Amino acid sequence: MVTDIFSSMVFDDATMEARLPKETYKALQRTIKLGKHLDMNVATVVANAMKDWAIEKGVTHYTHWFQPMTGVTAEKHDSFISPKAGGKVIMEFSGKELIQGEPDASSFPSGGLRATFEARGYTAWDATSYAFIKDGVLCIPTVFCSYGGEALDQKTALLRSMEAINRQALRVLKLFGNADVTSVKTTVGPEQEYFLVDKAMFDKRKDLIYTGRTLFGAKAPKGQELDDHYFGAIKPRVAAYMKDLNEELWKLGVLAKTEHNEVAPAQHEMAPIFTTTNIAADHNQLTMELMRKVAQRHGLVCLLHEKPFDGVNGSGKHNNWSISTDTGVNLLEPGETPYENAQFLLFLCAVIKAVDEYQDLLRISVASAGNDHRLGANEAPPAIVSMFLGSDLSEILEAIEKDTPYDGKEKELLRIGVHTLPKFQRDATDRNRTSPFAFTGNKFEFRMLGSAESISCTNTVLNTIVAEELRQFADILEGAEDFEGAMHDLIRKTIRDHKRIIFNGDGYDASWVEEAERRGLLNLKSTPDALAHMLDKKNVDLFVSHKVYSEAELTARHEVKLENYSKIINIEAQTMLDMTWRDVLPAVSGYTATLTERLQAKKALGLAVDYEEELNRKLSALLASAYRAAGKLEKDLLDSKSAPDAEALADVFKTTILDDMRDLRIVVDTMETVTPADVWPYPSYGEILFGVR
Ligand code: ADP
Ligand code: MG
Repeated sequence: MVTDIFSSMVFDDATMEARLPKETYKALQRTIKLGKHLDMNVATVVANAMKDWAIEKGVTHYTHWFQPMTGVTAEKHDSFISPKAGGKVIMEFSGKELIQGEPDASSFPSGGLRATFEARGYTAWDATSYAFIKDGVLCIPTVFCSYGGEALDQKTALLRSMEAINRQALRVLKLFGNADVTSVKTTVGPEQEYFLVDKAMFDKRKDLIYTGRTLFGAKAPKGQELDDHYFGAIKPRVAAYMKDLNEELWKLGVLAKTEHNEVAPAQHEMAPIFTTTNIAADHNQLTMELMRKVAQRHGLVCLLHEKPFDGVNGSGKHNNWSISTDTGVNLLEPGETPYENAQFLLFLCAVIKAVDEYQDLLRISVASAGNDHRLGANEAPPAIVSMFLGSDLSEILEAIEKDTPYDGKEKELLRIGVHTLPKFQRDATDRNRTSPFAFTGNKFEFRMLGSAESISCTNTVLNTIVAEELRQFADILEGAEDFEGAMHDLIRKTIRDHKRIIFNGDGYDASWVEEAERRGLLNLKSTPDALAHMLDKKNVDLFVSHKVYSEAELTARHEVKLENYSKIINIEAQTMLDMTWRDVLPAVSGYTATLTERLQAKKALGLAVDYEEELNRKLSALLASAYRAAGKLEKDLLDSKSAPDAEALADVFKTTILDDMRDLRIVVDTMETVTPADVWPYPSYGEILFGVR
């Protein structure tokens, strides 16, 4: 039964309460809920209980589980065994081992933060995220820092950003008299898209193996044009996979809720129920890991790449985000009374202003070589950040801004803090699927994230930029003599100054690009274009003032992201060359030799040879073109080595190398369309996309 297995592998609250002495449990709760320092004596008792619980479940090892800047998680297993007199061992796990670890960190990306002479980093338990058992190992979710205290991971900054928004939101809430609220947390529900392909097909494609996406592949006769896959009946093999995946996720306390087929053939989605942001980030990492692992058991491979197939929809993540108080109030939920409404509008305005002023950071937070295939020219959503509020809410904001009567029931001027907001429905029909940042009734859905990346970076940015706007609002309102008047003016001013970011139209329409330019919105098409803004003074000031990243930490992240971009494209280019030189050209050249033989034999018999002759001519010409295109790519790759710095190198990859790759691909894909299936060295798009039944 689901209720029996749910969270069975998690040292969760119920388990803690059952297994810890009352005092220890209470002390740990104080750490979890209020961020109080964890006493070593408490840690020792907790560690012991955790170990006993884990051993009962057959566990022998533990690990600190962390999220370095690689996008995936890291672990280093240590066993519980400790030698005892008489050649025996006992199973031990100390409080110190629970709360702190010292993995050798020299091989993780640090962006130059960690000099090799102090190669060791340390990990520290994030007690707000429960320990869990995975593959027979007790995993302790931790942050990962250098000895100087600089963050080397994704979680540290995320936790700091949650602290920042907590601080500022509490200031604002106090102005509204919410005396009972002691903490504010952001919540996230990330919807995860993925592709499932047959493992036998996958194993035959070097591009999928090395890069996670197909670098060649002619379009299949059928793609997604019939829209018959979206929400379609789930095939038995996929259904078995989903069932297995759900069970594994449930055991780990991940609230996997909905699953369905996506737009593209072989594409699916899993959405969990939302939870506190740092836990949602941990759970999303676990989800991606388990999606891959469970697929193997079913003879499948799960592709998390943003663009596995050209000409077919790519995969993203929809980051549903909101802010909640510990008293259970969702601050992005419109309220009932004038005061609640005013509070909602103020938080809404903070988000509007944040998204407008930090478009660049939001774009940067989703920038990667893989995601550029979705956000650039190729596929919607576009690289422009804008917000959808829906027509009702937009009309209300306009009425406030212009001091005009809202065209609802009341026909009177809206006075914030005095009047009730006109009721507006969460509009089910007008759900704008093309907006990158959409208000969906009681939360925002940010849709630009790539499917393969950690959600930590995006949520760190979201939390911090909204914290900054709340800080500015609190500064103004705390000093105001007439609170309601000041609030009214502040809301009006914010709408007036930042309404350019609101766009309720079709974000996929070409005219939007021009319109956005006219409005002065950014259109950062590629990762290097976006990263060029990361260290702008306003961004450094933001992160430093809220203590989310130091300047050194931000610089390091910039370096890691930029290097990663070039490295990924380099691997892709090398893979293309390998496939071209070693598989495609030999196979097709061999086939033209066969054709020539046939042609001569048929000619000797006086038979018509139009087909053989024409095909031979076509393929030979394409062989020559492919040979030249591959040669150019090879030479440009060699030349790229002389780029003076990381920016220049990324720029070469963005322009020259990606162009070369596209040129080579066009020739090779054309060749595929006329080469006999049994000669072509790889499974076709059709076989891969429609191969799972
Ligand atoms: P929709 O139909 O708009 O996609 P759903 O209710 O299906 O809405 O929710 C989509 C995702 O948003 C789910 O993962 C859900 O848990 C999440 N979500 C709902 N409420 C919140 C919230 N307050 N904060 C963060 N995520 C939320
Ligand atoms: Mg959704």
